Amino acid sequence: MEIKILNGSTSIGGNFIRIEDGDRIIIFDQGIRFDLMKKYYSGFIIPRGVKELRDIGAIPKPEWYEGANSIYISHMHLDHLGALSNIPHELKVKLPSMAVYEDMEEKWGASSTWLSLIPRKYYVELEELQPFQTDENRVMAIPVSHSAYPAYAFIYFGKDETVLYTGDFRIESFLNENVFRKLNQGDDLLTFLEENKDVKIDTSIIEGTNIGSDRIPITPSEATKIIEKLARQRKQLLATLHSLDVEYAYMLVSMAEKMKMQVAIASVPLTKLLEKIPNLPSKPQAIIEYVDYLTPFPRTSIENVKEKTLILVSYREIIDLIKDLNLAGSLSKDCLAIISEPEPQIEEGSEYEVIANWFSMLGIESYRIRVSGHYYQYQLKTILEKVKPRKSIKIAHTEKPKLFLKTLKKLDTTSAVSIS
Ligand SMILES: [Zn+2]
Ligand SMILES: [Zn+2]
Repeated sequence: MEIKILNGSTSIGGNFIRIEDGDRIIIFDQGIRFDLMKKYYSGFIIPRGVKELRDIGAIPKPEWYEGANSIYISHMHLDHLGALSNIPHELKVKLPSMAVYEDMEEKWGASSTWLSLIPRKYYVELEELQPFQTDENRVMAIPVSHSAYPAYAFIYFGKDETVLYTGDFRIESFLNENVFRKLNQGDDLLTFLEENKDVKIDTSIIEGTNIGSDRIPITPSEATKIIEKLARQRKQLLATLHSLDVEYAYMLVSMAEKMKMQVAIASVPLTKLLEKIPNLPSKPQAIIEYVDYLTPFPRTSIENVKEKTLILVSYREIIDLIKDLNLAGSLSKDCLAIISEPEPQIEEGSEYEVIANWFSMLGIESYRIRVSGHYYQYQLKTILEKVKPRKSIKIAHTEKPKLFLKTLKKLDTTSAVSIS
């Protein structure tokens, strides 16, 4: 078996992993390299098309797809999903959720930017991943907690060895075990491995986004406590979130329910996503000025946003929202905003200062929080103790490959495992 990490072993994002095992060839992820996008494009300097993006290395080369049986997408952040129109020939692509993909495809298809390159061409066949089932290529998808939902790790049961590809993941979730299980049809990767001791991993391809990061790690449960403390007794709360971040949205909605606050959504993609979540702890309202399609959620308007409301909004739309609330006389004097830093960071701008200036101008108290969708370096030991790779460890999704390798070598005192 040959495992080729053709992209993403020394960058955060852009993973392209090709496994050749006899006559079977499978691909894990085919993401966009945002580090390279940022290097060549900015403001008015924009991509000309697929060929140019291939030439600068931002999207995979056509020959990397040769002979592949299927592509498996671990989650739908663009540094993993990639540009589906780049797939050069007939191929099956397995996605975490068809419904979520279709909503996003509609948005991208109508885009006047390079995002219009994301939808597939007609010859690409899409299929939804079924967790915990070994498919025709002997691949099993296992849920993980991440800042995009749904997210999977993959285990490939090869002819002579078993390979784990973690995708992007963290080891603590915003959801309690029961809710996680309900939303993901089962346990997360580490629990699965613990409960299925017969599944033995030979090679593990592990992500390392936070290796070498000096930011204080805040876990989901710690963030929940902090936000609850800030939100207590507030009349109005604004929270920004990425439109795939179901776990965070779920936590915020549960918190609002506990505090007897109404939830309102001011973002189309977010509304579409929450519609798909069964048994949300409370029923949100959609703000019609921001949600312009017929959602099954009850509707309200900016004017009618009364006090004791938590408003969920995208990072991009929050400034428009506060201006609109202010104009309509709906902005509470007691308003508190919580900005969650978008992940992957590189995918969105980071105009924090400009945003902060608008908050000051309108007298809004605001805080910025970063809860990573990735595990932290101090948790690597725990992960390895549970995964127990017998033969080798390969690294991906890291900007500090040397440090990552060094750290892994230190943790593997037996040196029985090859690390690369
Ligand atoms: Zn990623
Ligand atoms: Zn991700």
